[in-house]
Amino acid sequence: MRIDIITVLPEMIQGFFEHSIMSRAQKKGLAEFHIHNLRDYTQDKHRRVDDYPFGGCAGMVMKIEPIDRCISMLKEERSYDEVIFTSPDGEPFTQPMANSLSLYENLIILCGHFKGIDFRIREHLITKEISIGDYVLTGGELAAAVIADAVVRIIPGVISDEQSALSDSFQDNLLAPPVYTRPAEYKGWRVPDILLSGHEAKIKEWELQQSIERTQKLRPDLLR
Ligand code: SAH
Repeated sequence: MRIDIITVLPEMIQGFFEHSIMSRAQKKGLAEFHIHNLRDYTQDKHRRVDDYPFGGCAGMVMKIEPIDRCISMLKEERSYDEVIFTSPDGEPFTQPMANSLSLYENLIILCGHFKGIDFRIREHLITKEISIGDYVLTGGELAAAVIADAVVRIIPGVISDEQSALSDSFQDNLLAPPVYTRPAEYKGWRVPDILLSGHEAKIKEWELQQSIERTQKLRPDLLR
């Protein structure tokens, strides 16, 4: 999978993709990340990416031309499955959405800034708008990193034990069961006996039961 991220702050997210699982996904050839500095697609000497809004409201708005140039350049090189815009009024980002995006080959993620982007970009160039939650960030970079991380980690082979990604919270609409490691007892706090029993089938049953109970208690909305 290839993900192209368009941003005015490339240095803010570059580092994110150079560590841990995201970097491993690239080394294994399972994912490619390309970060594009929107200012490289301006044509004026001040490299302006924003301008005053029509109508006189407060804040600045991202201009159409550099965004259109960057997206057009990318589309000339290959076809994209989705051109995503990160936005608080987009579709809420969920695990099922991450699962379906992970099946795609090429994605563009455009990060907004300031007051937002000229609405015509959203009408004519964007195919999907995603919000990572009901709060407002200063820019789309963190949202792009969140989306890329959730999508790439479930590509088969990215995480060494594939089963591990499939048994995470929200797969099957259930929260994950509790996990423990050594020592089996610490300050008198004991790991549940069942996990030390070696009975694989009973452990699986216990984990499922825990998942259901935790989901009922913490996120009953997922079970409905
Ligand atoms: N005026 C806008 C908010 C702009 S915040 C509004 O009220 O809706 C600046 C940029 O940060 C946005 O264009 C978007 O790209 C990004 N952003 C902010 N909050 C976000 C969220 N919850 N999910 C995804 N992107 C977000």
